[in-house]
Amino acid sequence: MLTMSGSTPILSPRGNWRGARVAVLGLGRSGIAAAGLLMDEGCTVLLLDDGEPRLPRTLLQAIEEGTHRLSTGASAREVSALEGLDALVVSPGVGGDHPLIEAAEKAHIPVWSELEVASRRVDGPMILVTGTNGKSTTVSLIHHLLQTAHRNSLLAGNIGTALSGVVDQAGPDTITVVEASSFQLERIETLHPAVAVLLNLAPDHLDRYGDFDAYVSAKRRMLENLDDEDSFVFPAGDATAETWSAVCSSRKLRFQPSPIAAGEEDGTGLQDGWLVQRSGGREERILPASALPLLGQHNLLNALAALAALLPFSLPLEALQRGLRSFRGLEHRVESVGSIDGVRYVNDSKATNVHAATAALRGLEGPIVLLLGGRGKGEDYSALRESMEKVVAVVCYGEEGERLGRSLEGVVTVHRAGTMIEAAERARELARRGDTVLLSPACTSYDEFRSFEERGQRFKQWVREHGGGVQ
Ligand code: ADP
Repeated sequence: MLTMSGSTPILSPRGNWRGARVAVLGLGRSGIAAAGLLMDEGCTVLLLDDGEPRLPRTLLQAIEEGTHRLSTGASAREVSALEGLDALVVSPGVGGDHPLIEAAEKAHIPVWSELEVASRRVDGPMILVTGTNGKSTTVSLIHHLLQTAHRNSLLAGNIGTALSGVVDQAGPDTITVVEASSFQLERIETLHPAVAVLLNLAPDHLDRYGDFDAYVSAKRRMLENLDDEDSFVFPAGDATAETWSAVCSSRKLRFQPSPIAAGEEDGTGLQDGWLVQRSGGREERILPASALPLLGQHNLLNALAALAALLPFSLPLEALQRGLRSFRGLEHRVESVGSIDGVRYVNDSKATNVHAATAALRGLEGPIVLLLGGRGKGEDYSALRESMEKVVAVVCYGEEGERLGRSLEGVVTVHRAGTMIEAAERARELARRGDTVLLSPACTSYDEFRSFEERGQRFKQWVREHGGGVQ
């Protein structure tokens, strides 16, 4: 039977954390950042990882000095590690069935995500963005717009730097923009954004959640602590989001790719080809959609969501216009790489699910030769089947290639290849002048690469090697 150390409440948002005993399970980027924050705050930290993590020198030094402990491999799964602990912080990569999580829950030791712990030290308002796709693009755009308006802004979360790593830079005037995955939201308690943004909901990570409802419930948790001074931003007409908003006391800000209906609450929309916003009942035109530098309808939605998220901060119109025009988008997201023999190559390596791949297909002009493959996530491919109008050929490759190929047969010509590069070679043979070769694989990269970034880089390198310059 485990016992807790007994000092409660633990890690309270405004309180002193000195002396608290906290374990961090999973020492990837966010786990390492959480451990660093807890150490800086005077906690005694137990670092746990079932693998062999690579730790930065500062953490190794702190362990050598004897104040903090490290346990790796099989011993990091032993339940006795939890003895006397006040809290367990789990990294997004650790599954809910990990023996330490189950044991901590049984012993009523709080189990929190890194985001939960870090958010307790955030001064100033937080804008939290979640959804299946578009999070990184949207948080980057929000941050860019804030910077264009000369407001103090920090960008954190899944996008790169863990929130734990930047909280010491956030003053009361800083707006902290956070990209939150469902994994981080699963284990929150006090997390309290001033603005919570839901971009969209589509099946993803079913390999981990088993069913869509569990995945959606994790996302919903971001609304748990919102009050009437806060705002909830969501796609107008989305059945799930509308249901959530009905029981949420905060201000509701809808975004939509159509005019904002008369009498509707504040939000953003598209009217006569212009992005518009309505605040306090006053409507304002911001920019023609055609002036947005980003490709695709999905990016128009991301821009409308970003504008809605910023409504509570009343940025000057001129800054919004300048910021929207100057935002360049992110690497590996529908990124034009170059042309070879009159064929355009587009890198959308970040499209690791069907929803993202279909968004790219909707947004780009045809004819398209599509590269699909990698490691599957157990998704159903019928939406992909229905998105083949502009696709003249598909090259399926990698671990999931066979299943993808079979599910598309009959609607499009399917070719098979082994690796991603072999698929690119095949696509080059198939494409004609004026076509687009699109890498939007609808799968993760892990069967062949370490990350979607590595996959995208490899694709871009291949395009360069074949004479495709930057456009
Ligand atoms: P996330 O951080 O949620 O993974 P990204 O901005 O990195 O989102 O984009 C991931 C993938 O989803 C890219 O392939 C991108 O083109 C696509 N995408 C971006 N925004 C949307 C959207 N609103 N709807 C559907 N797909 C999108």
